Amino acid sequence: MSHDFSLARERMVKNQLIPRGIKDEMVLEAMGKIPRHLFIEEALAGEAYNDHPVPIGEKQTISQPYIVALMTEILELKGDENTLEIGTGSGYQTAILAELSSRVYTIERIKSLLVNARKLLSELGYSNILFKAFDGTLGWNEYAPFDAIMVTAGAPSLPEPLMDQLADNGRMIVPVGDRYSQELIKVIRKGNSLEQENLGGCRFVNLIGVHGWPD
Ligand code: SAM
Repeated sequence: MSHDFSLARERMVKNQLIPRGIKDEMVLEAMGKIPRHLFIEEALAGEAYNDHPVPIGEKQTISQPYIVALMTEILELKGDENTLEIGTGSGYQTAILAELSSRVYTIERIKSLLVNARKLLSELGYSNILFKAFDGTLGWNEYAPFDAIMVTAGAPSLPEPLMDQLADNGRMIVPVGDRYSQELIKVIRKGNSLEQENLGGCRFVNLIGVHGWPD
């Protein structure tokens, strides 16, 4: 008999997200609904709802549930946004963004991860996601500007093309720091100026690309 993990999902929301201050009902609802265990290999499915990141192959990870919720809440999505995600990984965060946005554009540099994520998200019925295997530090100019941008890998500095592709009043969340630890930086565009806010420490795999770290 297959395990549906709905109790584990409910506990994740109640014990990991709400007590740490996640309040956005749309974020809590999406995280209570999306089958996170399907985004990691079957042997690790039992760890899917635990309070830590889990390996997804290619030396990459699916982020800890709380970090996914926090970064999503910071984007203040209402449902009508054009959202850009850099670092598709397993596609779990992409699914959350697709629940809360009108359209999601997601870029991943490792093709095998992108192919797996695209297959699963299509099986789960998502039809508002566009995928690209590329260096996401360059953004996706063709569909810019974006109301919201999320970078799910650690950058050495704010990637210039992503700031250029942010719409007026658009929000971007990016981990910025050295290769081993970063700070979550929120950027808001107000006309020609960019406001920045530091939302605290985090630890991500490296953002590798022209406006990221060298390979
Ligand atoms: N959000 C993902 C999830 O829910 O599974 C986890 C993302 S993982 C922490 C970071 C991802 O960023 C990795 O899959 C990595 O290959 C990707 N990445 C790193 N540099 C990138 C770049 N320049 N462009 C696109 N993807 C990149």
